[in-house]
Amino acid sequence: MNKNLADNFDEVKNIFSAYLERKDLRKTNERYVILEEIYSRSDHFEAESLFEDILKQKHNVSRATVYNTLELLVSCDLVKKHQFGKNHAQYEKSYGYKQHDHIICVDCKKVVEFCDPRIQQIKSMMGDLLNFKITHHSLNLYGICGNCLKKREIEASNNKPKTKKQLV
Ligand SMILES: [Zn+2]
Ligand SMILES: [Zn+2]
Repeated sequence: MNKNLADNFDEVKNIFSAYLERKDLRKTNERYVILEEIYSRSDHFEAESLFEDILKQKHNVSRATVYNTLELLVSCDLVKKHQFGKNHAQYEKSYGYKQHDHIICVDCKKVVEFCDPRIQQIKSMMGDLLNFKITHHSLNLYGICGNCLKKREIEASNNKPKTKKQLV
């Protein structure tokens, strides 16, 4: 059993089992191995890297099973799928995990999470105002992280054309 496994993993497993039963899908060991791997990590990951990590642990799970189990977990709200402006979608566990939004560096693609209660206020205010029941939201901020900003500054100063005096 993985040390980092989320405390609520039993609940998560029950939700997944109930979902599989409801959808008449088989409760295979592979699907639970994938679920366990996802709930042992706390990052944003691509399907391919999840598949590679599972392979490294010598589990016999096919790439297709990883991909379609991920989609099942997204449909039952145990996993969130994001498009952060990269080619591939990124995923993260979502059950019992704090509400948060993301800020993404356009240079190094680093993803940082933040949580601001004002977003909840906007949701309930706009819901009331426009007569909507707000069910979910998606908010990504994009920018350049501190490290990449420094790198850009260094590059810019290296590329500065030399003045006439320096050329002599
Ligand atoms: Zn960066
Ligand atoms: Zn996140």
